[in-house]
Amino acid sequence: MSVTLQTPIDYLKGVGPNRADLLRSELSIHTYQDLINLFPNRYIDRTKYYKINELQQNKAEVQIIGKITGFREVAQKRGKRLVADFVDETGTMELVWFRGQKWIRESLKTNQPYVIFGRTNWYNGRFSMPHPELELVKEHEKNLRSSMQAIYPSTEKLSNKGISNRVISKIMQNLFLETKGQFAETLPSSVKEELKLISKSEALYNIHFPKSNDLLSRAQFRLKFEEFFYIQLQLILKNLIHKSKIKGLPFSTVGDYFNTFYNTYLPFELTNAQKRVLKEIRTDLGSNAQMNRLLQGDVGSGKTIVAFMSMLIGLDNGFQCCLMAPTEILSVQHYNSLYELCKPLEISISLLTGSSTTSERREIHKNLENGSLQILVGTHALLEDAVKFKNLGLAIIDEQHRFGVAQRSKLWKKGSRQKLEISDNTEKQKKAYTPPHILVMTATPIPRTLAMSVYGDLDISVIDELPAGRKPVKTVHRYDNNRLKVFRFLRDEIKKGRQVYIVYPLIQESEKMDYKDLMDGYESISREFPLPEYQISIVHGKMKAADKDYEMQRFAKGETQIMVATTVIEVGVNVPNASVMVIESAERFGLSQLHQLRGRVGRGAEQSYCILMTGHKLSQDSKTRLETMVRTNDGFEIAEVDLRLRGPGDIMGTQQSGVLNLRIADVVKDKAILGKARYYAKHILNRDPSLASPEHKMVLHTYRQMAKYRNIWNYIS
Ligand code: ADP
Ligand code: MG
Repeated sequence: MSVTLQTPIDYLKGVGPNRADLLRSELSIHTYQDLINLFPNRYIDRTKYYKINELQQNKAEVQIIGKITGFREVAQKRGKRLVADFVDETGTMELVWFRGQKWIRESLKTNQPYVIFGRTNWYNGRFSMPHPELELVKEHEKNLRSSMQAIYPSTEKLSNKGISNRVISKIMQNLFLETKGQFAETLPSSVKEELKLISKSEALYNIHFPKSNDLLSRAQFRLKFEEFFYIQLQLILKNLIHKSKIKGLPFSTVGDYFNTFYNTYLPFELTNAQKRVLKEIRTDLGSNAQMNRLLQGDVGSGKTIVAFMSMLIGLDNGFQCCLMAPTEILSVQHYNSLYELCKPLEISISLLTGSSTTSERREIHKNLENGSLQILVGTHALLEDAVKFKNLGLAIIDEQHRFGVAQRSKLWKKGSRQKLEISDNTEKQKKAYTPPHILVMTATPIPRTLAMSVYGDLDISVIDELPAGRKPVKTVHRYDNNRLKVFRFLRDEIKKGRQVYIVYPLIQESEKMDYKDLMDGYESISREFPLPEYQISIVHGKMKAADKDYEMQRFAKGETQIMVATTVIEVGVNVPNASVMVIESAERFGLSQLHQLRGRVGRGAEQSYCILMTGHKLSQDSKTRLETMVRTNDGFEIAEVDLRLRGPGDIMGTQQSGVLNLRIADVVKDKAILGKARYYAKHILNRDPSLASPEHKMVLHTYRQMAKYRNIWNYIS
């Protein structure tokens, strides 16, 4: 059988059935190709040797030359361990084995020079190295192929079963021998030339066995570029196909509702950013394609009015619209503000949430189906099967991060039953009806580079400007022992007629403790701010929705001056007179959460403040988060820092996209390469959208192969 990259890994010299099973189950390596794409996590300099007296307690891998002077067995709870004394001219350490002791004892020689390699532990005033890799010095010199040794991803099971880094490295060598290191080129020559990229074969060789630092960086660049390039190709193609195949409801007119509102009832001048975004949305709605747009805008940037005016275009064209928000409080608030905007225009609008009564529901269902209800606002209750629209034209989702992809696709399916002409090669299921336009709004900005990879199927609009006259919130960090000063400040602000939020963390795992903290806090605040001079509201997750609402309303109406709350108020609450946000145990909040919370103040004309309270003991990451909050109000900058601290894995939406399965590139660290890859992918598709030209044959082939393996989040799921 001739070797191809699709050859099962079992056939590779040095693998065999047991190892093949392990490679499959632990690292998903099934074929030669999978193995060659197992890229090293990092490299260590194998020309560097440590002396025992130079070891530090940081547990990094080290390489030492020395001799074993003797073995001893040490009994322990379960079985025994084998310990060898290992010495060099500077000191003594221990080598330790918990398994395979008989074999080790028989095969290792005392008083011979060995190179050992592994992680060291510091225990009882001594360094030790469990399960070291050992090689006689003369063997070691013979085998060394590269001064930079690749360190591969591994798992506990693999190392327990003896598949050490050296074993992986060895079978990798065998792969290169069997294939003669020749691999088909996967990037078009024009791109390779312009970017001066090294060939695929050279890149693969140097990523595994770097000949020099320079070749290693060029290998990394080329492989990262390639990885991004094919993902971008896929995302852009998907978007093109989407636009050409998925017909949208053409909202051809901008009519009375929109114009009357714009000319007569618009309560303020729109910001330039709002105008620009509205224009982008209008263009989408008026085209023949279905809109699938993400609207990013920092807290307070005025997304609601954009959403409302988009709905007016829907109504002008005879369609119904809906707005879905993640929490009951937020839905109610949206409903209230939209209700006011609808009133002069005589638009019918209803609210549907988990607390809607059966008779309210019945009424809503009826009016939705007969078309007399024009706008429906609510929570995920909107997704229930019983909710059927006569002709839903536009679905808006606020605060996307709280909803999953599945919910988005459910809304998609709530479209009108009306049939429109659709191009022939569209899949059957999409023929049945035309989906509504979808606008997703998020207040947690995602850096553009990440958004491009995560939401490649969505077009993106950004409101990057706050309404005029907003004063940036002043943010400070205070330690718990300065609490009395903080309270004094709060009293002064309340005296001026302002209102204050005091927020406590709520983390699912420690809900009970958090609840206790909240109640303790509430008590001490009640003591500091006694009745009847001060009125305090409290809102937390354990309260009934109606009680929460009652307390929120009291605060909103100014009947209470202080709102003590858990993060239930994180999203969307709008009380312009509240000018101080105190966040307790601020180190326990994530950056985007802190930013969201801060966004609750600074909505009125007064100077607002955000006070981050913590103890003195802070981790490095917590310090960075707090410093970032104090330094900037810019949500995009904050999102960048957040991404650096947490990695893309924690950002919602990334789970469903390809960004987490990246083999070598990193959306944060390599965003410059991502930008280049996107540029070239676009450029090539502009000239050759079906990748039909001979020059792109290899691209098409690679693309198809990749698409088989990697299924990027599909917009209809
Ligand atoms: P978010 O983007 O956080 O959802 P909202 O839509 O709730 O922001 O708007 C925040 C506040 O700013 C609201 O009180 C809204 O009425 C007001 N607002 C929105 N746009 C403007 C504008 N162009 N000029 C003045 N105030 C505005
Ligand atoms: Mg909002």
